Parts: sequence; structure tokens; C-alpha cells
Amino acid sequence: MSDSTALELLKTKLRSIHHLHDAAALLSWDQETYMPTGGGAIRAEQLATLQTLAHDQFVSADTEALLIALLDTSSGAILPEQAASLDAASQALLRETWRDFSRAKKLPSTFVNELERECSLAQQVWVKARKTNDFQLFLPNLERLVELKRREADYLGFTDSPYNALLDTYEPGATVAQLKPLFHTLRTELVRLLDQIRQSPVHPQTSLMTQSYNTDQQVEFGRLVLTHMGYDFQRGRLDLSAHPFTTAFHPTDVRVTTRVFERDLPSCLFSCIHEGGHGLYDQGLPPSQYGTPLGESISLGIHESQSRLWENAVGRSREFWQYFYPKLQARFPEQLGSVPESEFYLAINRVSPSLIRVEADELTYNLHIMLRFEIELDVIEGRVMIDDLPDVWNAKMQDYLGIIPTSDADGVLQDVHWSLGAFGYFPTYTLGNLYAAMLFQQAKIDLPQLGQHMTEGNLLPLKNWLNDRVHRWGRQYSASDLIKQVTGMALTPEPFIDGLREKFGALYQLP
Ligand code: ZN
Repeated sequence: MSDSTALELLKTKLRSIHHLHDAAALLSWDQETYMPTGGGAIRAEQLATLQTLAHDQFVSADTEALLIALLDTSSGAILPEQAASLDAASQALLRETWRDFSRAKKLPSTFVNELERECSLAQQVWVKARKTNDFQLFLPNLERLVELKRREADYLGFTDSPYNALLDTYEPGATVAQLKPLFHTLRTELVRLLDQIRQSPVHPQTSLMTQSYNTDQQVEFGRLVLTHMGYDFQRGRLDLSAHPFTTAFHPTDVRVTTRVFERDLPSCLFSCIHEGGHGLYDQGLPPSQYGTPLGESISLGIHESQSRLWENAVGRSREFWQYFYPKLQARFPEQLGSVPESEFYLAINRVSPSLIRVEADELTYNLHIMLRFEIELDVIEGRVMIDDLPDVWNAKMQDYLGIIPTSDADGVLQDVHWSLGAFGYFPTYTLGNLYAAMLFQQAKIDLPQLGQHMTEGNLLPLKNWLNDRVHRWGRQYSASDLIKQVTGMALTPEPFIDGLREKFGALYQLP
């Protein structure tokens, strides 16, 4: 079998496996948007069947035989006689396929089934526990899940900390040793900045965000912004769901959702922009690599960098609103007609410590993430008892944000992640913010007219820049290599911190 034939056969195989994933993703999308509630139980079974089929096909002897023709399956190294004739992209495709394959093979299917069953059970218990503010109800499930996640880390293998194995699932290459000093620097700076903001004489008028805003008009405005961002509605849709999300089946079919509340203007607006950023990434992946790792996003952190860049660096900027605010006023003349742009700009950028992560502002959001990172690291490394988590949580809230939740529902029970077994996921949100700041700083250098373009509502130069620098590569580069390639720097919190200082320094008239 010649190498190119073997590679083509492997790609064909990967594509057909992807079709199963896409079918499952479509069922999930439907579940979150249009499925009647009665369909829930059978939908869970349909999804499980498709996912099991996809998994079985991926770890099958067929796939392995195709890989054996191309690489050494004990080390993952490409066979020397093949390497010479494969270009860098094909070699990256093999490297990443091998990474996925070897990880999948390390987990026994009995374990995968047990974990899936426990997660689906734990999630249902979590919903109830959160609703009734009853941590004790969720405790046994959480204890079992932590045990299972520690076993998963053992199966996958790790150096230094079992948490590294879990983190690697979401952010390949990231480690505790890298995150700890990074987050420490970030925390010191954020807390200092937050203290200054607390003493500022400036107080944003947030009440103007909670007037009555027609929900259809809100969604239409979100659609207008998405269109300006270059989100292609011929290859995408905007629908409503309880929790906004983005699903991609192929670069030609990428769907975003939003939610809309009559008395919460920022919710629909910023979730449209945020999901639009995710959607542009997925629409920008190379169609020719569909089904292979080169047609996939690099990591959750890089994906989140795209949504945060659009949401915060663009959507919460003065330049953006110079163009869009008059358009928003025209839609809502009664509510905003007499509100100056500067007041609106201040209100959408308000900084204030709050209990709930998903409602947090651009600055304090990261403190919520660090708190979760520290807790889950202690949990996975066995330094903290699970039944102590509510107290640990509240103590850290006091320490980081100066506020203590009055209930576990607004505290340790607020996020769905742990009930899904997603330990190691949270840090990717903050990594996304840091990557976004680095990328945006570079975009401003590469596109000297960027600010001017934004004041004219022309967001396409930025979208094209991201297509070229980030999206089109798929997983050809690791997150750290891509960032270095685009910005010339290794991951650093400085552009993020500098950006916040500059913006909030001016907004809050800080010393
Ligand atoms: Zn996101």
C-alpha cells in the first residue's frame, strides 16, 4: 500500500466516522432548540447509539490497520519511508489522528460506559439539587464522579498531576505547572484593578439595560451584527435556546443560538456576538479537510479566544458602538433615544463582583475561573474532601471577590460542568481571554486601519485576518505554536491586563 493511498483511505474512514458524529450533533442541536420535551428519553438513547457506533469505528481494527501502514503504533512516529513523501499538513494530520486514537484506545469500553451512565445520572441529580439548594443530595454522585475521573487520569497516563490528563482533554499541551504561575500573576493584577474600581466615583447606569425591549427587535439586531461580522447565513442559522451555543456539522452548516429576555438587553446582544465568534471559527475551517483533525478547532481555549475577542475586544469597544449605537437607538427610540452613547458604553462595561460566573463582567469573570481551577485541582489531587466543598467555595468567594453566596445553588452548585464529569474544562475560559487579547493586539498591528474600520461597521478585515491566521489551519499547529506563530510571543497575560487597565482606567477615571 503506497503512503498516499493509505493516507487517502484513512481520511475516507475518518470522514465516514465524522458523519456519525454530525448526525449525533444534529440530534443534540434539535434537542436544545425544537424537540418537544416528551422526546427527551428516546433522544438520549439515539445519541448514545450513534456515539457508541462512532467510537467503535474509530478504535476498530480497520482504523488501526490504516494507521499501522503509516506510523509506528508503539510510539506514534511516522514511518521513515512514509515521512519523506508527506507534506507538513499530512504529517500533522497523522500526529493528531494518532493522539485521538491512542487516547481513545487507553479507555476500556466498560469504563467509558460506566462514566457515561454516571454522568447522565449525576446531571439529573444536579438539576434537582440546584433547584432545591441541596448539596447533600448531589454529594454521593459527585464523589463517584471524582473517583471515576481519577481512574480516567490513570488510564490516560500523566506526569506530575492527574489533573494534567484531564486538562489535556480540553486544552492539549496545557499543564498545571504552566497555569499556576500564569493565574497567580493574573489574579494579583485583577484584584488590584478591582479594588481601584470599587473606589471610583464613576457609577454606571445599569438600569437602562433592564427597560422593556421588544424581543423580536433584539434578535433582529443580533442578526444585523452577525451579518456585519461576516457570519454567513447561507451556511448558518440563528435560533433560540435556553443556553446559547454553537454547533458545527461542516463549514457549510454552522449554527448559533441565543436567548432573549424582554428586560435584559445585554443577554441576547452579547450572546449573539459571542456565539458568532465561535461560528466564524467553524465556518472558517477548511472544507477540504472535513472529518480529519485539520478540519477541527485546536482546543477549547482557542475556540473561546474567538468568541471573547468578538464579544469583548470588538462588541464592548467604543469604536464598535460608534457605528452600531445609532442603529440600536433607532430600534429602541423610547428606551435609548435620549441616552448618550458614553452612558450606554459605560453600562455595558460595568465591573462589579457577582455570585454567578455566567453573569460576571469581563474582569471579575476570570476570578470565578481561578477559584474553580484551584478547587478542582485540590479535588482531583485529593487534598480536599468533597463534602467540604461548599465551605471551601464560600471561603474562596470571600477571598477573591469579597462576597459570599447565601445559598449553595448560587455557590458550589451553580455550574453544570462537574455533573458532566468535565473537570479541567474551566481553565480554558480564562485561556481564551488571554489568547484573545494577544490575538487582538496583533490584529491591531497588522491592520493599522482596524479601529477606523470598526467605527464604520466594517468588521470584515478582522474576520478575514482571523480566517487567515487562525481558522484555516485546523489542528495543524498546537495552541502554543499557533499563538507564537501569529504573535511572536508565548502565552502571556500581559496584553489582557494592559487592555483592561487601559479600558477601565479611562472608564472609571482610575489614578
Ligand atoms: Zn464560548
